[in-house]
Amino acid sequence: NFISAVVPPGEIGIKFDDIGALEDVKTALHELAILPMKRPELFSRGNLLRPCKGILLFGPPGTGKTLLAKALATEAGANFISITGSTLTSKWFGDAEKLTKALFSFASKLAPVIVFVDEVDSLLGARGGGFEHEATRRMRNEFMAAWDGLRSKDSQRILILGATNRPFDLDDAVIRRLPRRIYVDLPDADNRLKILKIFLAQENIEPGFDVRSLANATEGYSGSDLKNLCIAAAYRPVQELLDEEKKGKKSDTTPALRPLHLDDFIQSK
Ligand code: ATP
Repeated sequence: NFISAVVPPGEIGIKFDDIGALEDVKTALHELAILPMKRPELFSRGNLLRPCKGILLFGPPGTGKTLLAKALATEAGANFISITGSTLTSKWFGDAEKLTKALFSFASKLAPVIVFVDEVDSLLGARGGGFEHEATRRMRNEFMAAWDGLRSKDSQRILILGATNRPFDLDDAVIRRLPRRIYVDLPDADNRLKILKIFLAQENIEPGFDVRSLANATEGYSGSDLKNLCIAAAYRPVQELLDEEKKGKKSDTTPALRPLHLDDFIQSK
């Protein structure tokens, strides 16, 4: 069906500590989602403190939005349901009502639960005027109606967490239902250093190499770009070993013992 993953809290395997930088985002998610899920009694008095039903994470690709959503479920001790807007091809649209009802009733049974809607703009994008496909409109309306229908006490422990690289494509009605919007930015040099340290923690790096210089040289890189760079660096010793073997040389070290030459990767993107 159109749910891409359902994971119980203990099985996600990602915590906030596994995410480099983004400290402000983690703090905001703690206040908005983790506390209300873990301590619902603190949010049940009066009208001011109410658990929020929807949060939007927006920002450039590869900055860790999906990672944050997964870690949030771990930290909140919540189940994690993930759906991806763009996978909802027209073949599902005929069943818009059935699917959204099934999704929300499933979520109610799994509360506390984070329902992560990646590429939320694809599912709940702006009304396209006369050009909009009737089925797209119906899917969005069904989704919003089911979302509004979450009223019971239990439903306060269901959080819809949307993520998008294209916040301006979102429908106004959807934006209103995601009252808390958190910008997940590209990392600056200090934050790139924190992210690189996470990726390189277990690696054997060339002697004397200063990771700070790599952080400084990677302006514009997202967390995902930094990871790809580290993977490429880690592959280099394997490639060198394979090349040596091709030339008939027998190597005396395993790739894991060969230091990563990160200097080679310092260049502007
Ligand atoms: P998209 O908008 O393209 O879906 P995204 O913002 O959801 O991207 P993720 O899928 O969470 O980004 O990140 C891709 C990968 O990059 C992650 O699996 C992770 O390995 C790495 N990554 C990104 N940011 C960080 C970070 N701050 N700390 C550690 N790893 C990171």
